[in-house]
Amino acid sequence: MTGISDSFQRPINYLRVSVTDRCNLRCVYCMPEEGVPLMTHADILSYEEIATVVRAAAEMGINKVRLTGGEPLVRAGLPDLVRLIAAVKTIDDISLTTNGILLARHARELKEAGLRRVNVSLDTLEPEKFRRITRCGELEDTLAGIAAAHREGLEPVKINVVVLAGVNDDELTDFARKTLSDGWHVRFIEHMPVNGDDSGQLKLVSVAEMRRRIETLGELKPWKHDVGNGPAKYYRLPGAPGTIGFITPVTEHFCYQCNRLRLTADGKLRPCLLSEAEIDLREPLRRGASADELKALIEKAVADKPKSHHLAEGRPAKGRPFSQVGG
Ligand code: SAM
Repeated sequence: MTGISDSFQRPINYLRVSVTDRCNLRCVYCMPEEGVPLMTHADILSYEEIATVVRAAAEMGINKVRLTGGEPLVRAGLPDLVRLIAAVKTIDDISLTTNGILLARHARELKEAGLRRVNVSLDTLEPEKFRRITRCGELEDTLAGIAAAHREGLEPVKINVVVLAGVNDDELTDFARKTLSDGWHVRFIEHMPVNGDDSGQLKLVSVAEMRRRIETLGELKPWKHDVGNGPAKYYRLPGAPGTIGFITPVTEHFCYQCNRLRLTADGKLRPCLLSEAEIDLREPLRRGASADELKALIEKAVADKPKSHHLAEGRPAKGRPFSQVGG
């Protein structure tokens, strides 16, 4: 295995795969209420095609794969894909980002297939507000998913909270208390302005402000996880078994340490979540391209990685919604 770096000397070892553009929720900051135009079955890569890309990427030094979407668990047979990826010897970390609604049903099979850990998106601990933010979900389903993930040892289970001023920022300390009472690993994420959502009305809460409010519970001390530290900065409250992370894509971007490529559900390689550039792998895959040809395309995507995004300058990300690209 050889490693690969981009034009800015960033080592690239992480592939995020969107397995479907479909989602069983309609979160206000992610999708319009009516949904977005959906891809057809034929548009979407088969699990075997995804695994072919992963095998080629693994030969270039990719050793971490995250499955996302859309909602990855709405695609039938996801454990089959996990098994195919787990069979690639040099992939040592397979993780899943999910809204947790269907997780209780699938956690055991996913674990047995080789999934290592999960991130669960959960923006509120209040059932009524959960229905309002997701437009159609039930909090108890996601909580059951989180419990199942703990039971099956899909650790560390990380809870991703997108913080929106006036919507859920009144719950910052409630989530922080979960790190004390239930050992949750909670990550607070700044809302990113992207096309196709209701961003106009949604306001970001800065991490400085989040910290100020959380520290009413005690001083936050820096902490490091054993796996999957990624772009978050982690802390602990005194005596907490769980941790608190902050992810600041807007106010303090972490592009300088970006180590990822993204594969969209319809087979495009994206050098950056927040830029529109894409390289098509589906057509070469379907005409039987060799591993070397795929590797050359992956190398091009790595070479095309931009230095950084421009959200902080007030330039929203353009192009396809997160549900298609794999947020
Ligand atoms: N359905 C899965 C889930 O809910 O985790 C995976 C896909 S979802 C697009 C991935 C993550 O992107 C979620 O944690 C979601 O909260 C986050 N997300 C979506 N739109 C966002 C935005 N505009 N700003 C920040 N995070 C966003």
